[in-house]
Amino acid sequence: MTPYAYTPESLKVLFTEQQLQNRIEELAEEMNHLYRDTEVLIMICILKGGFMFASDLARKLNIPCQIEFVRLSSYGDGQKTTGTVKPVDLTLPRLSNRDVLLVEDIVDTGLTLNFFMEYLESLHTPKSLRLAVLLDKQEARQRPVKTDFIGFEVGNEYVVGYGLDDQGYYRNLPYIAHFTDTDSQ
Ligand code: 5GP
Repeated sequence: MTPYAYTPESLKVLFTEQQLQNRIEELAEEMNHLYRDTEVLIMICILKGGFMFASDLARKLNIPCQIEFVRLSSYGDGQKTTGTVKPVDLTLPRLSNRDVLLVEDIVDTGLTLNFFMEYLESLHTPKSLRLAVLLDKQEARQRPVKTDFIGFEVGNEYVVGYGLDDQGYYRNLPYIAHFTDTDSQ
């Protein structure tokens, strides 16, 4: 197996750390207003990619939150969806009659969120179910997904950073970037 070529020098920043934080602040303000009378908001972070967005967002919310995690996988090690969503861990508390907010890094083909939202609606009966995605890759959509909060629109290209990886690398970057040199990946 060829070793992974780690090439941070071939990355170009799409959204800086400051841009991400400013936008997350705006989203949090909208949420604080929308959920102002909510007893407890159940935030479900979709792993692995959603961890940074969920963590920064949660720190800006001033409503009572219960934070839960699920893990879904559809990319394997590559840069293309396998077309099948693999539920790795869907352990959740009872969600009936609760306000639920899903937090995800990116909606691309829509396969993952289409699957997960249908799964939640069929198994649980939440009072409300909303979705916050940091990035929306509209052009790539194959399944419909209703997004309530969107950080930024992106084109149909592979992005990394701020939770998003390439074979496990780059998740720790505080910004979102794309590769300028596709041969070096
Ligand atoms: P979808 O099911 O909408 O095609 O994609 C869902 C998951 O694929 C995302 O949660 C994310 O983990 C991964 N993904 C989709 N597009 C990208 C991308 O451009 N970069 C990275 N790093 N992951 C992506």
